[in-house]
Amino acid sequence: MFHELKQSKDFLALTLAHPQYLSESFEFDLGEHTHVEVWDTGVIVFSPKQLKHSKDIVLSCAVHGNETAPIELCNALITQILSEELKLAQRVMFLIGNPAAIHNGTRFIDENLNRLFNGTHSRDEGLCNPERVRAHKLEQYVDRFYASQSGERHRIHYDLHTAIRGSKHEKFAIYPYRPGRKYSREQIMFLESCGVNTILFHHEPTTTFSYFSSENYRADAFTIELGKVFPMGQNDMTRFIAMKEMLTLLMTGKDLQLPEFDLKRLNLYQVCRSVNKHFDDFEFNFTNDVENFTAFPKGYTLAKEGGKAVKIEHEFESIVFPNAKVPVGQRTVLMLKTADDSNLD
Ligand SMILES: [Zn+2]
Repeated sequence: MFHELKQSKDFLALTLAHPQYLSESFEFDLGEHTHVEVWDTGVIVFSPKQLKHSKDIVLSCAVHGNETAPIELCNALITQILSEELKLAQRVMFLIGNPAAIHNGTRFIDENLNRLFNGTHSRDEGLCNPERVRAHKLEQYVDRFYASQSGERHRIHYDLHTAIRGSKHEKFAIYPYRPGRKYSREQIMFLESCGVNTILFHHEPTTTFSYFSSENYRADAFTIELGKVFPMGQNDMTRFIAMKEMLTLLMTGKDLQLPEFDLKRLNLYQVCRSVNKHFDDFEFNFTNDVENFTAFPKGYTLAKEGGKAVKIEHEFESIVFPNAKVPVGQRTVLMLKTADDSNLD
């Protein structure tokens, strides 16, 4: 496997050739400068050999298997590192979240992987399907990656996705709930420089991968949505140039040249509530092609279920990630109101 990867420099190909697991982990050096460890299928860690590094960066993709643009973006960066075109100044772990689902061309095999973190994988029926097993392993890899370094470290986790539907803001990021911690202006301006100028502040703990890293490791962690889902090879990668450039600067320790914080360059939203499904007949009162961030006025009937109407409660609320087809008990849509900068550092 080591020779396969050394020759092809295509980590995604290696991952897809072994979608369940690798028969063995392996490690090697790139020249004198970088140590490489492959821990599992879709899990590769790069450590610069110079001692000055201060950041531990996790870049994850394919937590949803059909969200291909982030997979192509990460694999391109991995290939550049393996080819020694990029020399890292910081530790980086790339995670290809759900290789079996990529194989399948689907969001997941049995269960939405991004609802299984923070221990949810082991609750109720336990580790009974591929996603629960993978969520458990991914948590262990993040733990091993972050916990292996001592001293003052800057931990970062960008979990990269694409969305099912169109969006009024093409690229946006979800900032997990951070009890006791302010939101970081610097991180927000980093994302803005990546072309992600819309930020959603979450209002409560969740079971997502980014919340797991944020809450347990004090990482600057985000779920980042980079546009609409397209099949592998059909993504217009020019839409991700800024993102790739900023990630490259970050990983190689170059000056990020972030602009001053500027509200005018940003759209800030606060999640005001999550609408959960209580009955099988849950139905939205808007058509399937309504875009993310579409706003509805107070009193508007957003959905119906069990003979009752779900109404808009605030003056205006915008929707994001509507999905009526989730199991009963799960979230059907997140509701947003506009936010100011009062909760930023
Ligand atoms: Zn996703």
